[in-house]
Amino acid sequence: MKPAPFEYHAPSTVEETCALLGSLDDAKILAGGQSLVPLLNFRLARPKYLIDINRIAGVDRIYERDGGVAVQALVRQAAVEDSDLVARVCPLLSDAVRLVAHRVIRNRGTVCGSIAHADPASEVPAVLLALGGSVVAVSSRGQRVIAAPDLFTGMFETSLAPDELLAEAWFPAIHDAFAILEESRRHGDFALAGVVRAAEKLALFGVAPTPVLADPRDPTRNLESSGDIEATPEFRIHLVKVLTERAFAA
Ligand SMILES: Cc1cc2nc3c(=O)[nH]c(=O)nc-3n(C[C@H](O)[C@H](O)[C@H](O)COP(=O)(O)OP(=O)(O)OC[C@H]3O[C@@H](n4cnc5c(N)ncnc54)[C@H](O)[C@@H]3O)c2cc1C
Repeated sequence: MKPAPFEYHAPSTVEETCALLGSLDDAKILAGGQSLVPLLNFRLARPKYLIDINRIAGVDRIYERDGGVAVQALVRQAAVEDSDLVARVCPLLSDAVRLVAHRVIRNRGTVCGSIAHADPASEVPAVLLALGGSVVAVSSRGQRVIAAPDLFTGMFETSLAPDELLAEAWFPAIHDAFAILEESRRHGDFALAGVVRAAEKLALFGVAPTPVLADPRDPTRNLESSGDIEATPEFRIHLVKVLTERAFAA
């Protein structure tokens, strides 16, 4: 299928983007397009306006700040995978992006897009949560920092306002006692269940509507996992237990 008609905008600055987001009702940002374009093609998303941010200069930097690494809006997942800085400061993030789909998708898909999209089975949101990271959201009204626990509000839902651009994600440094483990049907598929260990903290993904923090000693307590065509809730709970054990034994 082809997308429903939309009006296309390609701003060249963050200010212009924020002005468009603030004035257009029912607009969607287009970053890597690896999640949004299929949704448009299947007409599961029918925004009136598309705001393509790919022509904005100067928002594709990875840099060190506040004892961690900041990843701007147009940084592709592949750039994070290849980054020596990320490998040195936050190798957990390097490991996580390698589990996202396939290289050809990571060449276009962005880290910030993955966070904004908030797929419950995504690796990067769970890493952000386990590390206690945050994002910077900008709009014509100003900018604010949203801590990871306040960001993921539901399945494919975040606390970003419709007029906000996710300008940057910040991941605290970690050098040891970390792991990301997942189980998927084939290499590159979304995870049936996954765990992120960051020192003594544990985050789960693929098992609830959002990534969730859990107690490493009892990771499935209060976990209401749902079943689907891919896996039963019981199987997902079993996976969480096994993967947690491995993550903390590693
Ligand atoms: C075959 C396939 C397999 C995949 N497997 C995985 C996987 O295993 N794990 C995984 O995590 N992902 C997977 N993905 C998704 C992929 O990682 C996407 O790249 C990512 O989810 C979205 O990033 P994007 O830059 O492509 O965003 P887009 O598709 O452009 O946008 C996605 C959503 O986020 C919003 N958005 C994007 N950027 C911003 C921003 N800066 N500010 C505010 N809103 C924004 C858009 O408006 C849209 O609603 C897969 C995709 C495909 C096609």
